[in-house]
Amino acid sequence: MSVAILYITDRGHTLAKRLTGLYPEARIVKFSSGTVPALWKESKNLIFIMATGIVVRTIAPLLQGKHVDPAVVVLDEKGMFAVSLLSGHLGGANELAKEIANFLGSEAVITTASDVNTMPSIDLWARDNDLTIENWSLVPQIGTRCINNGTLRVYTDVGIELPDEFLKVSDPRFADLFITNKRDVYSTSAVRVSGESTQCSAGACRVKGQLYLRPKNLILGIGCNSNTPADEIEQAARRTLDAYNLSFASVHSIATIDIKGNEPGLKAFAEKHTLGIVTFTPDELNRVEGIAKSEAALKATGAHAVAEPAAFLSSGSNVLLVSKQKIGNVTIAVAEKRFGGQKEEKKVSVKEKNSAAEKMGASGKIYIVGTGPGSIEHITPHAQDAIRKSDIIVGYGTYIDLIGELIKDKEVFSTGMTKETDRCRKAVELALEGKTVAVISGGDPGIYAMAGLVFELIKTRDELSVMSNELKDSALSSDASRITPRASRSLSVEVIPGISALNACAARLGAPLMHDFASISLSDRLTPWDLIEKRLEAAAMADFVIALYNPKSKGRAEHIGRAREIIAKHRAPGTPVGIVKGAMREDEKIVITDLKAMLDHDIDMQTTVIIGNSKTFLWNNLIITPRGYENKKQ
Ligand code: SAH
Repeated sequence: MSVAILYITDRGHTLAKRLTGLYPEARIVKFSSGTVPALWKESKNLIFIMATGIVVRTIAPLLQGKHVDPAVVVLDEKGMFAVSLLSGHLGGANELAKEIANFLGSEAVITTASDVNTMPSIDLWARDNDLTIENWSLVPQIGTRCINNGTLRVYTDVGIELPDEFLKVSDPRFADLFITNKRDVYSTSAVRVSGESTQCSAGACRVKGQLYLRPKNLILGIGCNSNTPADEIEQAARRTLDAYNLSFASVHSIATIDIKGNEPGLKAFAEKHTLGIVTFTPDELNRVEGIAKSEAALKATGAHAVAEPAAFLSSGSNVLLVSKQKIGNVTIAVAEKRFGGQKEEKKVSVKEKNSAAEKMGASGKIYIVGTGPGSIEHITPHAQDAIRKSDIIVGYGTYIDLIGELIKDKEVFSTGMTKETDRCRKAVELALEGKTVAVISGGDPGIYAMAGLVFELIKTRDELSVMSNELKDSALSSDASRITPRASRSLSVEVIPGISALNACAARLGAPLMHDFASISLSDRLTPWDLIEKRLEAAAMADFVIALYNPKSKGRAEHIGRAREIIAKHRAPGTPVGIVKGAMREDEKIVITDLKAMLDHDIDMQTTVIIGNSKTFLWNNLIITPRGYENKKQ
């Protein structure tokens, strides 16, 4: 490790000498602006013992970029602070500052956001996992997104273990990061790029600024005539990869026959891109079965074929991504090797942090989380973060299944659909034991869901504890063990909103909720049916757009018919009606109809029905309720 220590004063010199206890090989140099440029080139680590201002002015003209500049740490003369000034991550200045602070018993000053927020830094994570960053200019933006959202969404087709903070998504449009050797994920993914889907084309919906990280997992099997120039080989490689939508940045190494190991053009090409060359003997190559044989190759090299068997042997794979291509003097085949650049994770995971907090006697927390209508893409980053921070997930089967990827390593407490009270009671108990619990509801947790119930249970506990305290105070009871602490004091509860079914369904239908609307649940499990009828009547009469939740279930098939009948007393038969089943899920179904015909369509418990008001109209198969702009004089 090359270290240079620069000082100005005698005191600085003394401190520099002390640091040789840590870096015995370090060069100690008296500072002058003329000495810095040479050291800048020679040393990987520069330690300045002087004011940061001097350092900033001196190094400013020398800066080139974060992957080339050395680590710069600045110390005050007393060595009280070790400031990581430049190249904190890739250059290692943060580590250097920490190491120095540790040695001197002083404080390291680290300002890189990911460290302050204990989030993984993309550049370090990529480096530690042998991933090449394709577009460095996107890195700051993606890093900020990670810190602000508490997560990054990753689309990958290689088996790579992701940190807790990263979330795997199956649709590339919603990814912040791609980890793939495909040059363009959209040209191979199942996502419709344009056209037929009226909902959302890839171009319109994809996340802005998506960063490619390239796994080095492509093996180029190459054969070539003697004296083929490096440029020709490179062009053949690039043309082949381009034609098969593969990224050049993912090339791991070259595989060829032993006699080509010293071929000048091949060697120059490999050196230019720091690629290794793996060679095989003709015998080894000839042992690979099922390869097209070439007489010319046999004559020239003693092997029946070179490019394909070399790619097979070097990759360990038994399929080729690209079979032999002959381009001028070059033959080339491409195989993919298993990607396994994973290195040890040093970072403390959120889970470990939680259990540490628990040991310190921290009180519990309940997150009441809305997970939106279905797919993970529609869960807010804040909700994902809360789920990640939780020790235990409490929820009901369907919703838990929909977010399987998010909770795969969590303890889950699940009961049947109608056991909401049991689930919420359990959540409160666990939180009172000091656990962090996420109570999961689909859609929004405060709309026909769990938020109210959790609060009601805590309120009841509080009231019980006040009552038993009063009993104790009046000396009517001496049984102190029955007294529970006031639940609300030791619990922190946070409701995290989600996209409710009415938002999701309205979005699918157009803009039906643009004006006053009423949402009415047709479930009479907890509400008397005559009250539901009264509300339907009132909303219909007052010309509210009406969103019907829980429209139908086995025991209540006739309710939707009765609801339609009540609304039809006040609305025209042609009033637009939207029926959305499983919005934002794989089995989504959207029907646009009217009040007269709505019962002809499939309506079940995964469906929300939206009935327009007297002004709602249809346009291009969309339901639109006017807000009234057209009446406003400009
Ligand atoms: N908390 C949820 C509502 C729970 S009540 C929310 O905010 O959305 C359950 C009802 O919600 C279902 O009977 C159905 O009417 C509606 N619903 C939930 N998810 C839906 C979806 N993906 N598509 C259509 N309706 C849905």
